[in-house]
Amino acid sequence: MVKVVKFGGSSLADAKQFRKVIRIIEAENDRKYVIPSAPGKRSPDDIKVTDMLYKCYEQASKGENISEIFSQITDRYNSIIKELGVDLDLSDEFESIRNSMIHKAGRDYAASRGEYLSGKVLAAALGYKFIDAADVIFFNDDGTLDSEKTNEVMSEVLKEYENAVIPGFYGIMPNDTIKTFSRGGSDITGSIVARAVEADLYENWTDVNGFLMADPRVVKNPCTISKITYRELRELSYMGATVLHEEAIFPVRKAGIPINIRNTNSPEQAGTMIVAKSDGYDHQRVITGIAGKHGFSVISIEKDMMNAEFGFGRRVLEVLENEKISFEHLPSGIDTMCVVVSTEAIAKKRERIIEKLTAAVLPDTISIDDGIALIAVVGRGMKNAKGTAARIFGSIAKADVNISMIDQGSSELNIIIAVGENDFEKAVNAIYNEYVGA
Ligand code: ASP
Repeated sequence: MVKVVKFGGSSLADAKQFRKVIRIIEAENDRKYVIPSAPGKRSPDDIKVTDMLYKCYEQASKGENISEIFSQITDRYNSIIKELGVDLDLSDEFESIRNSMIHKAGRDYAASRGEYLSGKVLAAALGYKFIDAADVIFFNDDGTLDSEKTNEVMSEVLKEYENAVIPGFYGIMPNDTIKTFSRGGSDITGSIVARAVEADLYENWTDVNGFLMADPRVVKNPCTISKITYRELRELSYMGATVLHEEAIFPVRKAGIPINIRNTNSPEQAGTMIVAKSDGYDHQRVITGIAGKHGFSVISIEKDMMNAEFGFGRRVLEVLENEKISFEHLPSGIDTMCVVVSTEAIAKKRERIIEKLTAAVLPDTISIDDGIALIAVVGRGMKNAKGTAARIFGSIAKADVNISMIDQGSSELNIIIAVGENDFEKAVNAIYNEYVGA
């Protein structure tokens, strides 16, 4: 059995956290390949090493003196090394990074050094081989991941080692410069490594007990989801629920490797399993999770006999396409068509959009209403359960909230509900309590 284990920044924030990580890795022989993030915050008002590195880069690029901020960074690593009692001297590494920064090495290079140094420390503490991500993760000229070359080279290299530490977050461009993924990208590295070594499991260790059924800022103490499919996760992540980087599921999904979200601070918890297919309807609840977002607007277009007019919808969508606006939903009636879009996306183009739509379809009326929140109720169990819609809408009605739009795809994996932003919390709590109990 081979497990790939990735640890996030809060799991490696200081020596105490490093110790927990080492204990977790050493508790199971199967935990063979380790992906560390850069040290994160030690307390809510602390600064992540990655953010310090970005700042350092900015100062260096303006020709300012970076000594102070740079020594804050080196202090963080040195105190971890000292407290762990690891036999490692990073002075030469620090010197070469400092020089590169002064000589204006790129922004991504600067940011990547956080995970690079974390990897050095962890490899020394564990006695594992250190593999530089720049030797095994390749980007294309356009900045996208060259996933096939990466997979080929990485699996060849890692075959040689029973254990290794591979720093997260970065790889190399064809012109030999370092490039990072977007923020939180060590999750992607872990997923790439899991695919390359054909792991049985990708453990993603963080500081929560797993994926929660709802946002804890909206619902008090929501339950942890024990099992979720990749598709359900996509639906919930798209609507704002985050634990894992959005792109991290693709490499493992391709290879059918499950992801287990675990808590470094409570390793006894089983966490959340993210799987390709759950074996039938195995869930104790019909609903897997609820997520939602504020900040939507509805463009409503009315025209008598709209449905008899060929190409009406296409012309509406063409206007939005030309303005580079993607639409979220298209709830429509016989003589009305509504398009749900992000308020931010249309912010600077409202007048123009109305003008262009008016010219394109000659509507009787057209308006834009803001202040809409969307709620996604997601659950693979919905397909087999009768009366789900009635329960959801009934609970929202009981909470005295008006629903302004409903959208259910034919996959029956989710139901999207639009409510006024002021009613968002009430509606989410009503649905949650209906299924989990107040
Ligand atoms: N250290 C990087 C960040 O703060 C990447 C990561 O932690 O995954 O975004």
